[in-house]
Amino acid sequence: MYHHHKNGSLERRAQASNGDIATTNATNGTVGASNSNSNSITRLLGNPRIDHMPDNYEDLPLDFNPLVFTSLERHLPSHILTLSRDLKAHYMSNILLRYLPHSERVRMQKQKEYRLKIILNYPPLHKEIYTMLSENFFAPSFLRAIKDNTEASFRSIMAEPSRGIYTFEIFQPHFCEMLISEVDHFERWVHETKFRIMRPNTMNQYGAVLDDFGLESMLDKLMNDFIRPIARVFFSEIGGSTLDSHHGFAVEYGANRDVELGFHVDDAEVTLNICLGTQFSGGELFFRGVRCDEHVNTETQSGEVFDYPHVPGHAVLHSGRHRHGARPTISGNRINLILWCRSSAFREIKKYQREFPSWCGECRRKKKERERIAVAATKAELLKRELKSAS
Ligand SMILES: [Zn+2]
Repeated sequence: MYHHHKNGSLERRAQASNGDIATTNATNGTVGASNSNSNSITRLLGNPRIDHMPDNYEDLPLDFNPLVFTSLERHLPSHILTLSRDLKAHYMSNILLRYLPHSERVRMQKQKEYRLKIILNYPPLHKEIYTMLSENFFAPSFLRAIKDNTEASFRSIMAEPSRGIYTFEIFQPHFCEMLISEVDHFERWVHETKFRIMRPNTMNQYGAVLDDFGLESMLDKLMNDFIRPIARVFFSEIGGSTLDSHHGFAVEYGANRDVELGFHVDDAEVTLNICLGTQFSGGELFFRGVRCDEHVNTETQSGEVFDYPHVPGHAVLHSGRHRHGARPTISGNRINLILWCRSSAFREIKKYQREFPSWCGECRRKKKERERIAVAATKAELLKRELKSAS
């Protein structure tokens, strides 16, 4: 073994790891020099160029938050900085991808290929719904409220029939019809071409992921420009102001479709659920209180029971941790658009939080209970002292 030879140790180590390039290089002090990709990392600037005005990346279909690209651009070496925005984005994506675990990189690559395969083959029915045209999509009242962008303007179009559940009119009937026929058209294409598609989640047998057949950037705009401003006001304590990714899908209920949906929580910080139509009875959403991971199966409290009957064109906005389900659709067909909005910042911060989450109904109940017991104990102690001094 090389520890016998003080002077020869480096040499022997290099020999022992013969064929293992990374280790060999590490002994030479040139980590990653054999790899041209990781070599380029070393050329990122340690200090940001504060005088440089970065590009805006918000309209590009990227795997990471556009704000990450804006701030990373200030660290780019000069020969990259002068390239086009697309090339810079590509360069930075490659850097960021290296920070993801291998399994996550494989998953993202597979998803990309899957989507590309669909988009290259599926012929859209209504091209006009694939780019955000807010005047054609949204109800005028909703557009006005978003434009004003104040809590008062949001409240003016909303109802909060139960704590943390907001309902409002959002889409024009014509847009709902187009979206429904697009989803039908996609389902028919899937059936005819025998394309194997992935369903939206583990619970729905029917329905389609809208992001998979070209609606990803439109839905991203829906989240960024129309839902995040609202979430920032009403869901700030659960990451509402830092929503940065989404999962958008349509679910279908009725004959030959899913009938109902069991009790669950969503993989989302904030959920937008919009009824698109059409003719149906039943299918109410039932809510049973917001819960943290630890308390997801605890009892429902009296104020937490709430049932909501869907209205076509109307949205329900609620915490993803708000336990809910859908009652059976008794007759007709119902199709809903669901947008799970996520915040990577909130998920990251949550890992380090030790205090109880104030948004969990059970945590709040327990805290109140502890306070009640503490107050009762103090009162008993005081009473005991009074009795003593009186005797
Ligand atoms: Zn809790």
